[in-house]
Amino acid sequence: MGLNVIMMGPPGAGKGTQAGRFARERELLKISTGDILREAVREQNPVALEAKARMDRGELVDDETMIAIVRERLLRPDAACGFVLDGFPRTVAQARALDLIVEERDNGPLIVIDVMVPEHELVRRLAIRRICVECGANADPFGVADTCPNCSGALVQRPDDNQGVVLERLSVYQRATRPVLEYYRERPTFRVVNGAQAPDRVAHELDAMIDDAAAVKTA
Ligand code: AMP
Repeated sequence: MGLNVIMMGPPGAGKGTQAGRFARERELLKISTGDILREAVREQNPVALEAKARMDRGELVDDETMIAIVRERLLRPDAACGFVLDGFPRTVAQARALDLIVEERDNGPLIVIDVMVPEHELVRRLAIRRICVECGANADPFGVADTCPNCSGALVQRPDDNQGVVLERLSVYQRATRPVLEYYRERPTFRVVNGAQAPDRVAHELDAMIDDAAAVKTA
């Protein structure tokens, strides 16, 4: 059975960081739909360039495009042992499509983690977040460097992290993505972690929760 994890939570909750760490430690494929879109924009992919205007306004890219991207990645051989999804699903339609893909893969159920952080803390975190213009990596939020430790690219604010867009993204989250949590909440593999704690503490609790949820499915 594979370990199939979805990291849910509002923008700024730290789900990307936790998804990356967990995937690295467990040697799973990490799929971040935001990273995929930003990389495709850097490569001037025509579909992504069309999506960019919506991303810059903090709106969602259409379900059809996002489901096609995720479906293609999840059915690749390197996703066979499991995956960690960050930024998908963001609508109930995406969640329903993901259930069908998981059924098709027939390799264990979804483990759903909700990373919870109060809104005032999200706004504070997003205001100081910086990413690398070259490789898209998130900068250390406590660091003072102005270049990326991985590739020496310049660290900049994401165009959709400015305050007006952040408020729109949080409102889109409440409107479109909160219902996804309700879609999953009654499943025995649904867990909530307090994302306002120190990242190491969140990581520790997450690891235990995911192992616990993985045991439920085989019980
Ligand atoms: P993120 O890096 O996850 O915050 O995503 C950045 C932006 O990419 C979002 O604000 C959306 O415009 C777009 N995006 C990423 N994932 C999705 C998704 N699953 N559905 C719709 N739009 C998405």
